[in-house]
Amino acid sequence: MKSVKAMCLFVFLLCLSSVWAAESSVKYVFLLIGDGMGPSMRQYYQHEYPDTVLERFPVTVQTGTDNVFGKCTDSAASGTAIACGIKTYNWAIGVDKDQRPVVSLAKLLRDRGYSIGVITSVSLNDATPAAHYANQKSRKDRPGILADLCKSNFDFFAGGSLYLPPKHTLEDFGKLLKKSNYELRTEFLAGKSQLADRVVYITSMSPVWPKDEGVKRHVLSDITAFAADALSENPKGFFLVVEGGAIDSGGHTNDLARTMREMVEFDKAVQSALAFQKKHPRETLIIVTSDHDTGGLNIAPELPADTTLWKKQQKDALKIEKEFAKIFPQSSDEELIAFLSRAFAMGELTAAEKTAMQKALKDQRDPEIADKKKKEYRSMYGYYNPVVIQMLRLRDARCGVSWTTFSHTPRKVLTNAGGPGQELFKNVRENSDIPRTISKVLFGKDIIPQ
Ligand SMILES: [Zn+2]
Repeated sequence: MKSVKAMCLFVFLLCLSSVWAAESSVKYVFLLIGDGMGPSMRQYYQHEYPDTVLERFPVTVQTGTDNVFGKCTDSAASGTAIACGIKTYNWAIGVDKDQRPVVSLAKLLRDRGYSIGVITSVSLNDATPAAHYANQKSRKDRPGILADLCKSNFDFFAGGSLYLPPKHTLEDFGKLLKKSNYELRTEFLAGKSQLADRVVYITSMSPVWPKDEGVKRHVLSDITAFAADALSENPKGFFLVVEGGAIDSGGHTNDLARTMREMVEFDKAVQSALAFQKKHPRETLIIVTSDHDTGGLNIAPELPADTTLWKKQQKDALKIEKEFAKIFPQSSDEELIAFLSRAFAMGELTAAEKTAMQKALKDQRDPEIADKKKKEYRSMYGYYNPVVIQMLRLRDARCGVSWTTFSHTPRKVLTNAGGPGQELFKNVRENSDIPRTISKVLFGKDIIPQ
């Protein structure tokens, strides 16, 4: 009798432990990628927005981003590392250094019955999102990447735009999608019940500027919340990739305001993931990372008392640049400087700031600069209008920051994890460790081929 009781107790405990194991297993995985979001951008962002959720994750590690040659990465090589767990060459999309296709974690999970979603605030066929669904030797093979998207069998896609192959329209893309049973939609209406299965959204996700008041365009966080809810109907679970894609452009243009506004939207998307996790705490793992640092932002040893000047800029700098180009030929130096001072809310310029602006104007009027022939100009002003860049520099200096480069840097980025299995992410050293670690959380082992 005693032994039967003991046996029953043993079986009961065995069942209980397997229930526990099943209950603690992760079903929903968010992988959120801030493109170009370097560590100092995050530090400055936290200074501006102390309530950010980005710095509240229980696990934070430094992550290397170099490509297979130990050189500074582009978004393709690091996108492939984050998607497929291997290091490769710059421009590679889902192929190794010998240009052989490699499989992404997203595809392995798709084949195991998970629902897969890919969301980006920039072009849906740009490198970072593409690395999860495409295998192409070059990131510039836009038609090849689009064809791979159609073949992917992923459940949900959303992008802020699309790189269309020459002579192609969005309607052509819609027809192509239809052949693969996807439905193209160009407007996202948050809150309205919508079909999520095999939908591809191409809808603007540009940040909203004060002058755009009333326009609700940046919907990264809404789409993230919507996709998570819809994909969670699959009892097996989901893998949802979300990219804040234009933080990188802010870095390339050395534009603090653009960078910060894009980070606000990325922060909100992370909040959407956290809100979902709150409803399913034992089943949801959230990873936040970046593919590389862009611009090499430096923060002054002592920040000015008021750093919020960037918030007063009313329009995107690209718009300001266009308006500036229009008035440039017929305006005097003084008028041009006054125009830019207004546009970037600078008020009265100091004598040193005026001198810097006049130097930039002189360079701008140099006929050779129009052809961007002079290497020295490129290193000084990047590929942008020297006068606009110079005013941005002065504005950013008043906010306590400066930039190192117009390119990517080899600085390590930060990776965060929150949720069951988060401890395993303490061992993440390189970006290629990320998908392998997600696999270990889900299956207790690395299912990605070496
Ligand atoms: Zn970039």
